[in-house]
Parts: sequence; structure tokens; C-alpha cells
Amino acid sequence: MLRYNEPLSRHTSFKIGGSAYCWAQPENPKGVLEAVSFAESKNKKFSVIGKGTNLLVKDEGFDGVIICLTKGFEKREKEGEEIIKIGAGLSAAKLVKYALDLGLGGCEFLTGIPGNVGGAIFMNAGARSLEDPAKFDEIKDILLDAEVLDLKSGKIKTLSRKDIDFKYRYSGLDGKVILGARLKLKKDKKENIEDKIKAFNKKREWFIKIGFPNAGSIFKNPCLDKPAGMLIESCGLKGRRIGGAEISKVHANIIVNLGRAKANDVLGLIDLAKTSVRQKFGMDLELELKIL
Ligand SMILES: Cc1cc2nc3c(=O)[nH]c(=O)nc-3n(C[C@H](O)[C@H](O)[C@H](O)COP(=O)(O)OP(=O)(O)OC[C@H]3O[C@@H](n4cnc5c(N)ncnc54)[C@H](O)[C@@H]3O)c2cc1C
Repeated sequence: MLRYNEPLSRHTSFKIGGSAYCWAQPENPKGVLEAVSFAESKNKKFSVIGKGTNLLVKDEGFDGVIICLTKGFEKREKEGEEIIKIGAGLSAAKLVKYALDLGLGGCEFLTGIPGNVGGAIFMNAGARSLEDPAKFDEIKDILLDAEVLDLKSGKIKTLSRKDIDFKYRYSGLDGKVILGARLKLKKDKKENIEDKIKAFNKKREWFIKIGFPNAGSIFKNPCLDKPAGMLIESCGLKGRRIGGAEISKVHANIIVNLGRAKANDVLGLIDLAKTSVRQKFGMDLELELKIL
């Protein structure tokens, strides 16, 4: 199914940005290849998205084909005692629930992360560990392998975790289409898993106070003891506005869309935060947010 001139603000948590030349929602790998071939036949670029919760779409939109993996990529199945096979279009929330129902723990840290499995692998999504807040639990820790579509050969390849260059909020999987993955979890009592889910939910309660559309953290934390939010707040930028965008008064590493924000407003605040932190601390903030 192809839709032309699709407003991308409908497909991102920021609710900002222009339209895509074309929107494709393939239901299987063959459909993904067809969408890529279609883009090539029109001399256009393409990009894959999941739930759009880590994305800023520019005001001029995306002059290419957006391939969104949702329906048809939501499979989940058990493969052995502690291994599950899941599709890239499955939401992190459904993954956590599925594992809980099977009595498998290890992915509770994904509780409350609003994206899909494909986006979580691409971003190496994670959260501070319950046991040791100085560490992050990340999806790479439970990933056995990922299925990716090789666009040159049209074949599906399996990349084991060691073949993927995971770092903090980075996978190096640019240009690849993640179709699914196998995760290695651990048998646990349902009560234990539920307790961890509750604990992660509790840690995220403050998110409710944000109150406006956003895309989560804008910058990566340069190091654990110097979170980006703290650096930006120290520059006095909490609550700073450009147009319809604001550096959240609740957390300085989050930019909110107050209602009619333009992507350029957000980019202006990103620039301001980077410049101010460089001037005050001599540190370069690196974007976690992806810009399309
Ligand atoms: C309120 C809020 C809280 C958040 N909290 C956290 C948090 O605690 N921890 C955290 O890590 N993140 C957090 N995020 C950010 C975001 O939810 C995660 O990065 C999430 O994993 C992105 O998934 P997505 O499906 O939305 O990806 P998208 O935003 O759609 O895409 C993100 C990137 O992944 C690529 N991509 C997506 N799917 C595929 C695929 N199938 N194949 C290849 N590339 C793909 C896209 O091209 C893009 O570059 C938060 C966001 C919000 C809005």
C-alpha cells in the first residue's frame, strides 16, 4: 500500500514536520524490497521508521519513500526454553508483556520505552539498571541475533550480536532494514518480573509531567556523571522557547512541542543547547535524536 504526500507529523511522537513523497507499509520482506525498488525507480531515497519516537522530521518533509514496519512484522514465538523470536514491528510494550506471560525476564528495562523492536535495536535502546544506576541495561545485552534485509542481494541475513557494532544508543546498522530478532531471556517467577516492571514504571513517572509531545532525550549523555540534561540546565536553558518549541521545564534534555512547533524551532533550540554547553563546559553534545 502506497500513500503519496503523507504528513509525517502523524507518525512521530513529536507531531512535527512536513510530508513524505510516499509512505509504504509493507507486510513482508518482499514488500520492503518492492518499496525500495519503487524508490529507486523514481530516483528517490528511502528510510525505514518504526513508531517515530526518536525522530524529528524537517519542515520541508522527506523527498523519498518512508517504509514503516508495523503490521506483518509483529510476530512473536518461543524458540527453546529461554529464547524468543520477535518481529521488528512489535512494540516494546508488547514484547515486555509477551515475555512476562512466558515467565521470561530480562527485557523489563524496555518498560515505558514507546518505540518498536526495530527502532530499539537500531538505537540500542536502554534504561539505567535497577541494580546499579551507574549502568545501562540495553537491548544489546539480550540480543542473540538480528534478521536484516540485504538490499543488494534481496536476501535475509542473520547478524549475530558480535557482528553488530553496538555502543551507547548506537548500532551501526545504518542502511539496513531490521526485520526481527532473537532474544535470550531468563526464566523467572512472574512476581519478580512484575516487580521489575513496576519499578521501571515508577522510575518513569516523572515523564507524565512533561505534558507535551516530545521525542525523549535529545542528546546522548556525554558520561554518566554528567548527564546532558544537567549540563543544559546549568546553562540556564530550562524553559527557553523558540517559536512553538521549548526546552522542557521538567527535564532540560527534552524539547517539547507546545502545539505548533516547527522542526526549525526545535533545531534552533538544539543549536542553542550545543553552543551554550560548549562555551560553558567545553563539551560537545551528540544528538540521540535522529533527523529526517
Ligand atoms: C517519552 C519518550 C521516552 C523515551 N525513553 C527512552 C528510554 O528510556 N530509552 C531509550 O533508549 N529511548 C527512549 N526513547 C526514544 C525512543 O523511544 C527509542 O529510541 C525507541 O527505541 C525508538 O523506536 P521507534 O520504533 O520509535 O524508532 P523510530 O523513531 O521510528 O526510528 C529511530 C531510528 O531507528 C531507525 N529504524 C527504526 N526501525 C528500523 C528498522 N526496522 N530497520 C532499520 N532501522 C530502523 C530509523 O531509521 C531511525 O533512524 C523515548 C522516547 C520518548 C518519546
